[in-house]
Amino acid sequence: MSIKQGQLEALAAEILNCKKCGLHKTRKNAVPGEGNPQSQIMFVGEAPGYWEDVKGKPFVGAAGKFLDTLLASIDFLRDDVFIGNVLKCRPPGNREPAPNEIQTCTPYLDRQIRIIHPKFIVTLGNYSTAYIFSKANLSFSSITQVHGKIYEASVLGLSVTIFPTFHPAAALYSAKYKEELTNDFRKLKGELARRGVIKFS
Ligand code: URA
Repeated sequence: MSIKQGQLEALAAEILNCKKCGLHKTRKNAVPGEGNPQSQIMFVGEAPGYWEDVKGKPFVGAAGKFLDTLLASIDFLRDDVFIGNVLKCRPPGNREPAPNEIQTCTPYLDRQIRIIHPKFIVTLGNYSTAYIFSKANLSFSSITQVHGKIYEASVLGLSVTIFPTFHPAAALYSAKYKEELTNDFRKLKGELARRGVIKFS
């Protein structure tokens, strides 16, 4: 086992036992995130939904199926990348994350970012973009304004490229967002190729 994998597994064990906010009372399973610890790309979503809570894995519901399609469009499988979330436990009824939950939970995401040290962080939707932009001292208005653009930044003292896009769930109810996401991933593919970001086995 690699050092990074060992560190991520130890962190996941902490997350599975976490009782730092009220969400532990209603969760079935915490969802630490998963994927390749050596990945140069990290995807950050918002919070587990119904199926993620049932299975303890990120993006395994309908939005996850579309994320798999988007990953395939950039020639990556989900096992090639790391997929995490701002919140590790499902807000009841899939309500929006509360500010105190974000504040309490995001040290876990920060630790995942430090361990993986990705070249690219792809933020999926408003919450994850707002959080990663705050860490990068970038001002954030809305995902509509910033999606599909490249931001060179320092996040937690690490040099990373941030690529914000819409949340894949948006594509499930809007053909417009589906098209925007598909276009953004086309741009992402070009940027990854240009910067020599590769798969690690
Ligand atoms: N939506 C998210 O933001 N994350 C998941 O893991 C699933 C759905």
